[in-house]
Amino acid sequence: MSRQVRIWARWFPELMRFHAPEEALSGMVKHQTPLFVVIYLVTFAVYFGVYFTWLDDHIPRVIRPVLFALGSVICGVLGYALLRKRLRRGLRRELRAEGVMLCIPCGYDLQGNQSGVCPECGKAVEVTV
Ligand SMILES: [Zn+2]
Repeated sequence: MSRQVRIWARWFPELMRFHAPEEALSGMVKHQTPLFVVIYLVTFAVYFGVYFTWLDDHIPRVIRPVLFALGSVICGVLGYALLRKRLRRGLRRELRAEGVMLCIPCGYDLQGNQSGVCPECGKAVEVTV
């Protein structure tokens, strides 16, 4: 397992369940990058809209580059945070296709589950075809 996969698996533990985690990772990144870029640009625009509308006049010149750098980091983290849940659900759906039965909403291992209800989160087991 590559170093890149191990790092990503800290935030997306589902990756460890794939037979080919490198493929799962590249698929995940490829599919979600456009959405991430859109979220990033929108939050970036809002941040700097606020910055130039209200803050610019009141902030000393030396601090401005710091605020710019901070803004880009915040936007990136926000985009990631907004997408994380969605990405993890997507990975669980892909794992289902590989025969690994995980609860789509919470990630609980449903191997051998007969009741049709997840014991962890209480949701009905989503049927994927
Ligand atoms: Zn569950």
